[in-house]
Amino acid sequence: MTKHYDLIAIGAGSGGLSAAERAALHGKKAAVIEAGRVGGTCVNVGCVPKKVMWNAAGIAGALRDANDYGFDVLVNDFDWNQLVTSRERYIQNINDWYGGYLKESGIDLIPGYARFVDRRTLEVDGKRYSADHIVVAPGGVPLIPAIPGAEHGINSDGFFALREQPKRVAVVGGGYIAVELAGLLKGLGSDVDLLLRRQHFLGNFDAMLRETLMEEMINHGVNILPNINVERVEKDDDGRLTLHCSGGHTLTGFDTLVWAIGRAPNTADLNLDSVGVEHDDNGYIPTDEYQNTNVAGIYAVGDVTGRAQLTPVAIAAARRLGDRLFGGQPERKLDYENIPTVVFSHPPIGTVGLSEDEARALHGEAVKVYQTRFTPMVHAFTRHGSKTAMKLVCVGTQEKIVGVHIIGHGADEMLQGFAVALKMGAHKRDFDNTVALHPTSAEELVTMR
Ligand SMILES: Cc1cc2nc3c(=O)[nH]c(=O)nc-3n(C[C@H](O)[C@H](O)[C@H](O)COP(=O)(O)OP(=O)(O)OC[C@H]3O[C@@H](n4cnc5c(N)ncnc54)[C@H](O)[C@@H]3O)c2cc1C
Repeated sequence: MTKHYDLIAIGAGSGGLSAAERAALHGKKAAVIEAGRVGGTCVNVGCVPKKVMWNAAGIAGALRDANDYGFDVLVNDFDWNQLVTSRERYIQNINDWYGGYLKESGIDLIPGYARFVDRRTLEVDGKRYSADHIVVAPGGVPLIPAIPGAEHGINSDGFFALREQPKRVAVVGGGYIAVELAGLLKGLGSDVDLLLRRQHFLGNFDAMLRETLMEEMINHGVNILPNINVERVEKDDDGRLTLHCSGGHTLTGFDTLVWAIGRAPNTADLNLDSVGVEHDDNGYIPTDEYQNTNVAGIYAVGDVTGRAQLTPVAIAAARRLGDRLFGGQPERKLDYENIPTVVFSHPPIGTVGLSEDEARALHGEAVKVYQTRFTPMVHAFTRHGSKTAMKLVCVGTQEKIVGVHIIGHGADEMLQGFAVALKMGAHKRDFDNTVALHPTSAEELVTMR
């Protein structure tokens, strides 16, 4: 017999859980189908374990600076396996918490892999489930390139499975995940080469951010190799990896190779074509602004839509969808403009709105930029340190702020409030009229001339 629900979400990640949760909140019967671990990418192999590792690298940095602050500290060792064990225990607690929460909320968790049978019915391990509304939220998987020997490398999932600290690592990729993994590995003491296909990483970020980060990473000893393509990977009998690259370059002696070259949506085996759900050539599912696919009653949220692939975006879109379907709010939808984002690099980046280049392309001469660069006080007298750089991108005679870009110590925690201001339509004069917090780095954002 087919069990019927008001809403079923495919995938118990950020998007699917939020859709089911919101449906339940509005008194509806909901289920989530999950092929792997509850919590999806973010909790298990994304934001959460990444942030734990980033925090650890930050602690390594603080220990390094401790002597300069007068502490007689000698760091004898770092136990990677202990850190990973603690991290995984923490994640298991989150998984367990979700299990209890779903039960309390009356949401059924159906373990297994879902496939469409028809527009209202899904099959999981031979059993059928139907719903008036089906939310497709299967997220994505990390890519491995189609080159000989690629299997000798690991992807971000493999990185989080490492039980031993890599000693000499090559990270391949120019997106935020590549930059983050390279930075935290270096921070924890590995030797790191970062291989970029182009001249720069973080191609769609403001130039000030990527240039400052590149400088900082080089200063911290990350070996950045621009304009290079790996064409073949070889593993010798001792497990050492050699990368044969474009232009006849050979890089050798790595114990670990991390591919961070992008992700693909998890849609290949969903049977989307059989129910007529449109997808692009890469498998991403386009939606309208209300998360509707081209098939009535089938929606898509999160990474599978290919837009702003971030946890809070998946959550926000799914919650709004639930409010629209069941909460009597027919116009409720996510505004995808001005989504803030943080890169957990060393130092971190916080950014929202238009880059200077994007603003100039749209508004030309009407753009005015305020910019500053300084050594944050925390590093005023430490031997190791990093710079902070900030930029406000303004438009028009009223100087409406259309972009806020920060790189430096604390940028990750600094940005959220400024993102609210930008979303509310703040002008430079609003920043000027705000009394500074002193002594902080953030105060520079309201005192720029
Ligand atoms: C290394 C890394 C670091 C990241 N760091 C950040 C960060 O710092 N901040 C941030 O905002 N975002 C970050 N992200 C992105 C974030 O994890 C994703 O944007 C978010 O998880 C997307 O949520 P989702 O619901 O679309 O998919 P997911 O969270 O991927 O969940 C999809 C779930 O669906 C399941 N599934 C797939 N197909 C099926 C099927 N047919 N049947 C049943 N279940 C299925 C999967 O097993 C998975 O659990 C990071 C991602 C990675 C990889």
